[in-house]
Amino acid sequence: MNNADGRIPLTILGGYLGAGKSSWLRHQLHVGAFSGAHILVNEAAEMPVDHLLLAGAQGLSVLADGCACCDGAARFIAAMRDLCDKGVASIILETSGLSDPARIAAHIAADGVLARRIRVVETVVVADAQHAPAQLETEPLWLRQIEAADRIVLSKVDIADTNLLARLAATMKMVNPGAEISGSVLGSAMQLPDTRGVLPFAIQPPGKTVAPIRTLRLDVGIAAGWAAVSVWLSAVLQAHGSDLVRVKGVIRSPAGRLLLQAVRGKVQPPEILPDVQAGDGTTEESENVIVFIGRGLENDRIGRSFRMLLT
Ligand SMILES: [Zn+2]
Repeated sequence: MNNADGRIPLTILGGYLGAGKSSWLRHQLHVGAFSGAHILVNEAAEMPVDHLLLAGAQGLSVLADGCACCDGAARFIAAMRDLCDKGVASIILETSGLSDPARIAAHIAADGVLARRIRVVETVVVADAQHAPAQLETEPLWLRQIEAADRIVLSKVDIADTNLLARLAATMKMVNPGAEISGSVLGSAMQLPDTRGVLPFAIQPPGKTVAPIRTLRLDVGIAAGWAAVSVWLSAVLQAHGSDLVRVKGVIRSPAGRLLLQAVRGKVQPPEILPDVQAGDGTTEESENVIVFIGRGLENDRIGRSFRMLLT
């Protein structure tokens, strides 16, 4: 990446909720890609969590409470201007899972200051190979993300069916013929199956109405132990099925801070986080909080079932 024209190179990292953007980025940093870049993580949910996976990155800041493409656009522009003033060498923006990378690029182009100082060099979009076939039908946003990509990374290809994977890759080529497509498992590059002669998936025409995705935040307090929370969470996931797109939270346990994540019904093994450090964007208040992202979520119902667990 050169910044011959004097502008700061920006890489936009997009992809749907739970697609594996942080895992991909974490691996790239580990193998020395994007060295010296400042990482700006945008999380639309109130509680920033994804950036904790990126601990150890050289420069990291978090843009919480709002999505850079829509309701958080003003704050995003302010944060970017600030990074320009600090003179960072390059920037990687990890977008929220609900954002449209093309709108973010448009905000930069429309801002007089940023247009002169920032150059979007690449939009990388991570798509979850396992869930993408279903997302094709239900998520118009998912398609917009694919359309905006210069590079598409199909993640979790090791657990995807080979025939579906070939059809998915063929679909991506149909939607965005100009993009480079690669496979990945936890950020490591993987071979994709041959797509010659493979039938792409039919793309659902836009306009099909689906309930909007909402964010719900639940304070679990300190009384709940990890074991009880995990049993309860499995029941919540089962009750909501595929309407619950993503769950993330940080629970304080005797072993330390546990990062809890679930994507479309699957609870991932908890990960122990490093302790709170000054400047990593976390505060004690973001502990013992679980954020649910999905459709048809009722605050009352989830909260009530949680209080029942404690009695
Ligand atoms: Zn947005």
